[in-house]
Parts: sequence; C-alpha cells; structure tokens
Amino acid sequence: MHKINWKFDNTYSKLSKTFREFVKPTPVHNPEIVIFNHQLAKELDLDFSKINNIELSKIFSGNSLPQETQTLAQAYAGHQFGHFTMLGDGRAVLLGEHLDNKKNRYDIQFKGSGRTSFSRGGDGRAALGPMLREYLISEAIHKLNIPTTRSLAVVKTGEKVVRENLLEGAILTRIASSHIRVGTFQYIAATQNIENLNTLVDYTINRHYPELNSSKFKAYDLLNLVIERQCNLVIEWMRVGFIHGVMNTDNMSVSGETIDYGPCAFMDHYDPKTVFSSIDKFGRYAFSNQPPITKWNLARFAECIVPLIDKNEDYAIKLATDLIDNFQNVYEDKWLKMMKNKLGLFGEEKKDKKLINDLLDWMEKNKADYTNTFCHLMGIKSNDDIYKKNNFLEWNHKWKMRSELNNSSKENQIKLMKENNPIIIPRNHKVEEALTEAEKGNLEKIMKLLSILKDPYGNIEITREYQMPDTESNKIYQTYCGT
Ligand code: AMP
Ligand code: MG
Repeated sequence: MHKINWKFDNTYSKLSKTFREFVKPTPVHNPEIVIFNHQLAKELDLDFSKINNIELSKIFSGNSLPQETQTLAQAYAGHQFGHFTMLGDGRAVLLGEHLDNKKNRYDIQFKGSGRTSFSRGGDGRAALGPMLREYLISEAIHKLNIPTTRSLAVVKTGEKVVRENLLEGAILTRIASSHIRVGTFQYIAATQNIENLNTLVDYTINRHYPELNSSKFKAYDLLNLVIERQCNLVIEWMRVGFIHGVMNTDNMSVSGETIDYGPCAFMDHYDPKTVFSSIDKFGRYAFSNQPPITKWNLARFAECIVPLIDKNEDYAIKLATDLIDNFQNVYEDKWLKMMKNKLGLFGEEKKDKKLINDLLDWMEKNKADYTNTFCHLMGIKSNDDIYKKNNFLEWNHKWKMRSELNNSSKENQIKLMKENNPIIIPRNHKVEEALTEAEKGNLEKIMKLLSILKDPYGNIEITREYQMPDTESNKIYQTYCGT
C-alpha cells in the first residue's frame, strides 16, 4: 500500500493507567468521507494523494486504523458551568501523536468514535452538523491567526444518532498540539496522587513549555506561562468578537489553543452581554465574561498544582494567588495594546483607553457591527447610515487627532489595522446556511464559505455578501450544544 507517512510516536499512552483507558473506536456501518483538509495534511507532512475516497473513509472512521496507533480515551475532570464533575473522553479516542518532518508533535484524535468507559449515559457518537461546524469554525479561527486545534476530516458513519431528532452520524478528526486540559490536572489532583501530578507537570512542560525543563520552580513557572498563554488567547477572541460558548475547565487547553467548538459563534453588533448558546441561561460565558472566566479557570488550574509549588502550603497558596490576582493587570495591558492595534495607534497617550471605551460605548448604543465598524475606519466604506451620525463623526474626529500623534506614516497605521481587523468572519447566517445545505448532502456552500474564510484579512471584492450581518439581529441567533 502507498505510504501516507504517518510517524506515530506515542507518549501519552506510556503514562500510567490513571490517565487513560485503552479503547478502540467502534467500527461504523458505512463510512463516507464528507470533507478532507488536503492543505492541513500537507502541513503535517502526510501524503494522501494516492488514497482514494473509499480508503479515506475507512481510515477516518476508524474502521481501518493506521499501524502504530495505540488508541485511548483520556481521563479528565471539569467544572461544567461551575459544577465539578469527573469526565473523560466519552466519545473521542486519541490515535496517537504524529511527528511532522520538523518533529513537531500533533495529537490525532477522533471525535464521535463510539463509547468509552467515560461515556456515562452517552452514545459516544456525534452528529454531522456539529462536526462540520467544528471543522468550519476551527479552520476560520486558524486563518484568523488564533491558536486552535485543527480539523483534518469529517466522515459520515452511515448510522443515525438519536438526539431530539434522528440525525446523520459523523466522526471528526481533530489535530491538536495536545489534549491536556485544565480538567486533566483537575482529574489527577482529585485522585490525590502526588507522583502522578508531578508526572503530568513534567509531561506538560516537555510538550508545551520545554524552556522550563531546567527550572527549579517548575510548577510555579508553569502556572505563570499557562496564565500568559490563556490570557493571550482570550485577547485574540476579544479582538475578533469570538464567543466560545462553553468555557468549562475541561474545554480549556493548557497549550493555549482554542479547543472544543460547541455552540460557539461570532458577535455581529457589539454588545458585551452577547450569548448565543441556548444552554447558557445566565450568560456565564457571555462575550465580556470571557476574560474573568479565563481567570476563574486559571485559579482552578492553580489549585491543582499548589502542592507542587512549595512544601509550605500557605506559602504556595500565597504565590499562586499573587499570580492569579495579577491576571487582571496583565489582561488590561494586553487588551489596551490589542485595541490600539485595531485602531492603528502607536505610542502611548493618556486618553487612549477613554477613546477606545467611547467607541465601544457608541457601538453598543447604536448596535453597530463590531467587525464592520473597524472596516469602516480602515476605509472600507459601507452604506450604513450610522457612520454618518454626528456622535460617530465627533468620535472619528478625536481618533484622527490622536492618530496625528502616531509618529508614524498613514500607511503604517493602515497596515497595522489591516493585520488586526478581519474583513471576513464566519457570519452566523452564512454558517447556518452552509451547514443546513451540507446536512442535506449539498457541500457547495460550505466549500465556498471555507474558501472565503481562508483570507479573512484580504480585501477581496467578491466577499461583500460575506461581510454583512444578517438583517435579523444578533439576539435571534441561537447555537446549540447539538452533540
Ligand atoms: P462537551 O460538551 O463536548 O465538551 O463534552 C462534555 C463531556 O461529555 C465530555 O466528557 C464528553 O466526552 C462527553 N460527551 C459529550 N457527548 C457525548 C456523547 N454523545 N456520548 C458520550 N459522551 C459524550
Ligand atoms: Mg469538551
């Protein structure tokens, strides 16, 4: 058979039993490849050019496993909407870790591959719509230059899954720099086995923070770096108006990648209280709550590793608390920098923060589209009359005056703005339209949308219809966990 060039080097499977259950994907009835990410396969130094669709379907359904895989379900716990639960991969298996030619390590995981010992009452399966949704949004987030897991393939299983209706079953192949979650630490911490906790810290450092290998204060330094990466990630979500939707601790990767796309969506008109998820009744994961929730999740992470920070518990708690308490300062500094980039402002002026907040207030009051307002400022004019209103023109004047203090050229200002303000985001109505058609077997719309989303910062003429929010308001849009 033609060589695909898999290079599995599995390290997670060598950890002790507590960390995982060895389990195979449950074979499916009639697998059929729906979408395959050739570009990503290339980036992973995998060669599927000689593999036909029948073979692809067998491979990415788990019916025919590559050699050298040691499939397993990972154990983890999590605070789900604030409530602690022991979880684990209830419908996913890790095939193993693939090394690309540069020895970068990637988890290859199937989602929707059947029951495991962590399935609780679930069927271990996933439906086609949500798997295509994860594929679409994760690829969009990647093209927006935001750290994320990626999607290599979606295969229909030929079996129905029972949800509110009978739905087409599917399996997603997910690529991640790892699947170590805050919840993984919570699981190990809950078992109160200090040796395993040490192992997990060392494993995580090896995999994601090798610069800490020689550190004398590994746990403390790890906490510090995880805080920084998570902070950077949430800043990126705030930059593009992304709402994750289920920021439970089991859905937070310690590598700082966006993971577990469920009822996520992008905000249209600016409203900090925006929530799309139908199950988020109290707005715990609303747009503006994402930074404080990140901090809350990091505090849960810190609690897990306190025993390794210092033998003196009080002192360890003090060190961890100081780091967590500093999150707000770090976040605010980074946020200000990010927003200044969006507005093309160089240097520091006292009133920068006020200028930014005035714009956000104006957007909120006028229900201005978050993405398109920055496009307007970059000179991509829309017919929207709100930008002709006096109170906007006044603000615009202040922004222009501030821009004069930039000590840099107009070209540089526009360049900075173009790098930080997407023109194209996955608009909710476009996502829904593409998914509805794809579920009926027509992939044209999703393929077109994926191709448009490849260049979110480019000024492509044909994309006008992809720039506009739906005429209906944000509020009407609801996303479902739809597992
Ligand atoms: P999620 O909402 O996808 O982040 O999943 C939360 C937890 O529920 C994880 O432990 C999943 O593995 C598990 N889970 C979700 N859907 C299913 C399912 N259909 N069958 C078994 N476990 C599931
Ligand atoms: Mg999850």
